[in-house]
Amino acid sequence: MPLTRRARSAAMAAFVVGGAMVFASADAVQQSPFAEHLSVAGEGDPFDGEFAMSVLRQVCDLGPRVSGSAAMRRQQELLRAHFEFCQGQVGLQTFLAIHPLNGQRVELANLIVRWHPERKKRVMFCCHYDTRPFPDRDRHDPQGLFLGANDGASGAGWLAEFGRHMPNMAGNFGVDFVFFDAEELVYVYGRDPMFLGSTHFANEYAARRWDVTYDYAILVDMIGDADLQIYFEGNSLRYAPRLTKSIWAVAKELGVTEFIAEKRHELRDDHLPLNMIAKIPTCDVIDFDFPNPQLGNIYWHTREDTPDRCSAQSLAKVGRVLLEWLRQLQRLR
Ligand SMILES: [Zn+2]
Repeated sequence: MPLTRRARSAAMAAFVVGGAMVFASADAVQQSPFAEHLSVAGEGDPFDGEFAMSVLRQVCDLGPRVSGSAAMRRQQELLRAHFEFCQGQVGLQTFLAIHPLNGQRVELANLIVRWHPERKKRVMFCCHYDTRPFPDRDRHDPQGLFLGANDGASGAGWLAEFGRHMPNMAGNFGVDFVFFDAEELVYVYGRDPMFLGSTHFANEYAARRWDVTYDYAILVDMIGDADLQIYFEGNSLRYAPRLTKSIWAVAKELGVTEFIAEKRHELRDDHLPLNMIAKIPTCDVIDFDFPNPQLGNIYWHTREDTPDRCSAQSLAKVGRVLLEWLRQLQRLR
């Protein structure tokens, strides 16, 4: 049932604290733009890797989603409609950045989805949803087309499915999703700053211009790789050791052997501003060997980062682990 305008603005008011936030209406959305006849998941339903993969493909069909581009705006519209269908409150946290190409100011936006705003304890799941402007590590065509199927769309596809499980998620914790913009609005490596969206978010949070606090955050990045191996990431172990180990412990319980409890990479990613500025214990769940440790990270930031190198099975494995991790957390007091 659609909320009245007054009820709607009251519901939104709880969500808006400082910063430039624009909120969607809370009117019921009958259908997800990503699938006809989709329904929200019941308690205990499994993670649907096929749906996550179909969203990954549809996001790639938009073409490159560079920060500030028309394709990025289209992606925002699709995600907004999908998560409203999933009964979330959807908002945009806008911010200004200097565009590295022309020095002009450009408005960018983190997309935020919230469920169960009345729950005081909260946990965040996040990813970046922009794509690097060019495949600058491509040996043959570094100015070619960069689709970002794994490095970009995997997070959006995965969270689209994860969100289907949120409305009926019982327990003590409310969940927010944050899609960070401008993780890699990088034309010249080393010159152009990274992590603009997560840094803005973390600064707002640290200045207490955010209306909730998070006990934990989990970042997913490059989790679509069809040849999945997810090792401990060094900065996650440093800043959020208990959280990180708890995720791999759940994977072990479930027998998901693609989660390997050994440290392999130490990465700069959106989890650094969250850990260092916002002080939210944040774990980066990332497969930084695309496709695998033997061949190396050879598809990363190249034209080879395409949907055919991703799989529903990999998305489902990460989904199984993090859904179970969240269900166990929900049972804690
Ligand atoms: Zn990247």
